[in-house]
Amino acid sequence: MTSGLAARGSMTIQPAPPIPLYFIHNTYQAAHHGHFLIHLNYMNEDIKNKPGSYWKEKLTPEEYQVLREQGTEAAFTGKYWDNHETGMYACAACGQELFSSKTKFDSGSGWPSFDDPINAEHIELIEDTSHGMRRTEVKCKNCGSHLGHMFDDGPTRSTGKRYCINSCSLNFQEKDQA
Ligand code: FE
Repeated sequence: MTSGLAARGSMTIQPAPPIPLYFIHNTYQAAHHGHFLIHLNYMNEDIKNKPGSYWKEKLTPEEYQVLREQGTEAAFTGKYWDNHETGMYACAACGQELFSSKTKFDSGSGWPSFDDPINAEHIELIEDTSHGMRRTEVKCKNCGSHLGHMFDDGPTRSTGKRYCINSCSLNFQEKDQA
């Protein structure tokens, strides 16, 4: 039996095929290595529930320790604390855009510091009482990876917040306009 759509010959409309797994994998690799950035939140809904083995394969040991085990890179050692280029900082684990260079400021801390995320919905703030301190942890809302901490001692002329983020939690992409 011929359907109404198929009967139109050259105008046949096919349903969109499912996104093949290899495409998701390759896109992830591209995002991770910074060749181009792409939002994955529509493509990989369960990325928050990936096991540790998934992240160990995707991330370097340092990235894994910081992003997945709440580690902190040593101050003044990361690749972005002194980066002044114009562009976008995305999650090093999943590619979600997080911070614009427009909001980056020199905090003197040795970690990349921003006074606002690109979108409050892209991050998650969680109370963190580890190491005998009361801090606010900053996580990527898309993949659940640890990014850094948020403090209330940022520039008072803007938000007053300081998002203190590990360089290795970020992938920077240079752009003409932030
Ligand atoms: Fe992420």
